[in-house]
Amino acid sequence: MNKKAAEKALKKTSEKTLERKIVVEVKRLGGKALKFYCLSFTGMPDRIILLPDARVFFAEIKTTGKKPSPRQRFVHNWLRGLGFVVVVIDSAKALDDFLNEIKN
Ligand SMILES: [Mg+2]
Repeated sequence: MNKKAAEKALKKTSEKTLERKIVVEVKRLGGKALKFYCLSFTGMPDRIILLPDARVFFAEIKTTGKKPSPRQRFVHNWLRGLGFVVVVIDSAKALDDFLNEIKN
């Protein structure tokens, strides 16, 4: 990793900033990263990402340094058990890694 990439990896990024960026970047890929409200079932990830070819991902967005709650981890594991991909995005690097993954 070069110096600039290392600095970027360590930098604290707010949930709000990451949410804004994921919306823009997923749109560029021809999909949507929708805010996922589920009033009757707590712990669902913040965003449902819908991409061409029926690809669906869930993303929990966190400010760098914050971790999913026990309830969120429980729901993430339940979704994974159903075969869905759930990612926790808590840094600019984590977002870049996720975007690179869904581009391929
Ligand atoms: Mg969140």
